This record gives sequence, C-alpha cells and structure tokens, in this order.
Amino acid sequence: MTDFTALKAELEGLDFDDTPVVLKQKSRDFFWYSPILKRHLDQASADLVVKPRSEQEIIRILAACYRHEVPVTVRGAGTGNYGQAVPLAGGVVLDMSAMTGITAIRPGSVHVEPGALMADIDEALRPSGQELRIVSSTVKTATVGGFVAGGIGGLGTVRWGGLRDLGNVIGARIVTMEAEPQIIELHGAQVLDIVHAYGTTGVITRLEMAVTAAYDWVDVLIGFDSLMTTVRFADHLATMDGILLKELGVVAAPLPYEGFLRYQHWIPRDMNVATIMVAPHALAALESVASNAGGAVLFRSDTVGENDRAELPPVAELVWNHTTLRALRTDPSLTYLQVLYPPGDHLKKIETLLGVFGDELLTHLEFVRFDGRVAVYGIPVVRYTTEERLDEIIAIFEEHGCPVFNPHRCTLEEGGMKEIDRDQLAFKQRTDPKGLLNPGKMIGWDEPDYDFSRPSMYLFSKS
Ligand code: FAD
Repeated sequence: MTDFTALKAELEGLDFDDTPVVLKQKSRDFFWYSPILKRHLDQASADLVVKPRSEQEIIRILAACYRHEVPVTVRGAGTGNYGQAVPLAGGVVLDMSAMTGITAIRPGSVHVEPGALMADIDEALRPSGQELRIVSSTVKTATVGGFVAGGIGGLGTVRWGGLRDLGNVIGARIVTMEAEPQIIELHGAQVLDIVHAYGTTGVITRLEMAVTAAYDWVDVLIGFDSLMTTVRFADHLATMDGILLKELGVVAAPLPYEGFLRYQHWIPRDMNVATIMVAPHALAALESVASNAGGAVLFRSDTVGENDRAELPPVAELVWNHTTLRALRTDPSLTYLQVLYPPGDHLKKIETLLGVFGDELLTHLEFVRFDGRVAVYGIPVVRYTTEERLDEIIAIFEEHGCPVFNPHRCTLEEGGMKEIDRDQLAFKQRTDPKGLLNPGKMIGWDEPDYDFSRPSMYLFSKS
C-alpha cells in the first residue's frame, strides 16, 4: 500500500492536488470516442496530480515517486483518443501544463517546453514568418509534448509527412525514472524512442520542432456528386507539388451537411466534400484543378464576410478527429476506426472496400505523405453494433492489405501504430527500469514473451 502522506511530505512546496474533482478531471482524455474504452477506462483515477514548473521539479518528483514505487502518468492537455493519458494503475498524474516556455526561434526550428500549446507556439513564431510544419487538428487546445508522445500527424501532413518522418521532431530532451533521474538528449532517429511512446520511456522536458513558412491559409470546400470522383480529385491534387496545401481530406455525403452544422448554408445534403487549406497564392491553380475534375467550389473563407467567418469553425476543426467528433454529436452511437491505405493501389482499395461495407461505414479520408508518396489515412465513422462486428470490420480491412490502427485499445501494441521491438524495450529498461511510467500501456514490457511480429506495417518503426 503506497504511503501518499509520506510522498506528499516529500513534495512539499510543489504544486499538487488530490481533490476528487481534479483527480477525476486529470485522469481522463477523449477515450470516450470508443464505446469499448469507455467501458474499461471510465473508473481509472490518479491518487495525486502534480504540476511541475521546471525540469528540476520533475527530477524531484520522479525521484520521490521512484523511492515510493508510485506510477507516474504524464499528461499534456488530455485530448488523446485512446486513453494514452489515463493512469491505469493510479499513482501520480504529472500535469505538464505549466511548462510552456518557448526558448529559441531559429530559421527552420523552434525550441519549446512540452506543455506549450501548439497554437501558442505558432503565435510566437509569427513575427519570424514561420509556423510548425505539422500540428494536430487540436492545435488550439493540445500541448506539443502530448502531440509528440501521443499523436501521429494532422494539418501539414499532406506536405511534410507525420511525426514518424525523421526531421519533423528534430530533438528531444527527457528525464528518466530512476533513483537519480538522468537527463538524456535525443537527436536524429533516436527521437523515435519517445515519439508516440505514450510517455512510457521518459518525461519529455524540451523539444526542438521543425518549422516552415507561415501563410494566411484559405479554407476551401469543394463539392462533388460522386464520392469516388472526390477521392480521385483529392489524390491527383495531393500529387501536385506546385499547389501548396496544409490540409486535404474527403468526407462522404451526408456527413458534411449533417456534421458541419454551421456550413449547412453552403453544403447541399448529397454533396461529398473535399476539405482543403491552401496558400493564398495557390488558390487559382486549385480552382482550375477542381473545375477540370467537375467539382464545385462550395465555400472559400476569403470570400465570406468577417461576421460570417467569426461564426464558423475553421476547416482545421472539421478534419482529422474533429470529423469524428462532429459525427458523434449528430449520433452518439457512432464510433470510428483508423486505417492506412498504403500508397500504390490505394484508390482501388478504397473503391473495393466501399463496396464491401456500404452504409455501415461513412467515408472520411485524410491525404498524407507516407515515405514521400501520397497515401490515404482513413478515419471512417462506423455505425457501431457490437464489439464482435467491429473486430470483423478490422479483419476485413487487414485482409485487403489495409492495416488498422485500432483506436479501441489503449496499449501501444494493440493500437498497432508503434513497433515495440527489443530496441524499444531496451530503451525503456534504461529510462524506466521499474516500469513506473504509464504502466499498462506497453504489453511487451509486462509480458516478455509477447510475440513482436505483426503481419502488417507500423506507422512508427525504426526499420
Ligand atoms: P495528452 O492527451 O495529454 O497526452 C498524449 C500522450 O502523451 C499520453 O500518453 C501522455 O502520457 C503523453 N505525454 C504528454 N506529455 C508528455 C511529456 N511531456 N513527456 C512524455 N509523455 C507525454 N491527433 C493527431 O495526431 N492528429 C490530429 O489531427 C488529431 N485530431 C484530434 C481531434 C480531436 C477532436 C481530438 C479529441 C483528438 C485529436 N487528436 C489528434 C488526438 C490528440 O488531440 C493529439 O494527439 C494531441 O496532440 C495530444 O496532445 P495532448 O496535449 O492533449 O496530449
């Protein structure tokens, strides 16, 4: 039985809280998108929330928790979707929201503390004419540390790839969970030991992130009668390197009309929609491509009045998992999946699977760069019936060569994005020898005989 009174005494002078309402609030993320995770994670709770203000405080907290064998789960803003930030074994939630420093801005990169919100980093970069290369669609509410440790990509991924692509996260500094916590600096491919590792391999205290030229991105919605015509248009557009895009997605009718409520004035019910953020100087080229493909420009943010614009969510908040959120608001019984259509015959696969699933899945696709080629990341909205049927749907995708990154599981292995191989386990052994960081999220650590082989591809792999 852990003696939290003794632990609190050792943390004297630090910002900590164990009031029930705070414990509950800081023990949750957006796992409730999944009816399965909701059932499993709803009751999980931390025993103490500690909010460090500096790396030195983190070292002090981790040393004390190590001594008392108290688990530590790091938390950014808690917007993750798979229960990444839920403290399955209780213990301490390390709330990083006070570490928001932006310590250096250079041409091409920015040095930040992990608790900085991505929108605040972009704001700080603005005078230098730069912005983060890639951010999640939760850019306004999520921390950069949480994005690196729990996310995959998002706005900008159509141009720059995702967090998996080397060069987007340039460097990281972490503190280890040991009797005397150490500081480790990671560069190059080493950063993959902490990217999308759910904070199981060290607490990130600094990041160097790649940045690029900033634009006043224009939001554009282009409508088509046929879904596959929309998909082919988007695929072609994604390959047109001269047209500078920050976002390119496809959402099948009637989801845009029903889910993007404030846009109903512009979107007919039966229209399939390409969701786009484009640089102002590339608008004319985009319109030419759309018109050649038979698309209708339904909406352009630069042509609506300021009052209308202030009432509308930006396209950035219609895409990625915001599309799922908007669908869930129309019908809470819906859920979702995440699937990769690997580059090559991705269009054929999309068309075939559309025929297989019919109305059971509502198509939502995000166009991304994957190993330098256009690929499609599907985030279909699922008309949920049973867990068994969900498993069948996953099996059907995989039989068609499309790996599913299961958002209804909270372990790294079952989520399937990150390869937990012997190197990753060796790194964890070095940074967290007692397995106290976010316990329960890495099966390979808990079950040494776990079979590492997986038939399909990973998003995050060193090989
Ligand atoms: P949290 O949820 O707090 O944490 C995420 C993980 O990182 C946890 O495992 C946590 O333990 C770990 N962690 C946090 N800080 C640290 C640290 N300093 N050191 C070590 N580990 C740490 N994700 C995308 O990738 N792309 C999207 O476009 C996207 N869109 C979304 C849209 C909606 C509406 C929602 C609800 C979620 C979306 N997400 C998306 C998921 C999530 O918002 C992002 O991954 C986000 O960037 C996570 O940041 P956070 O601060 O909320 O992290």
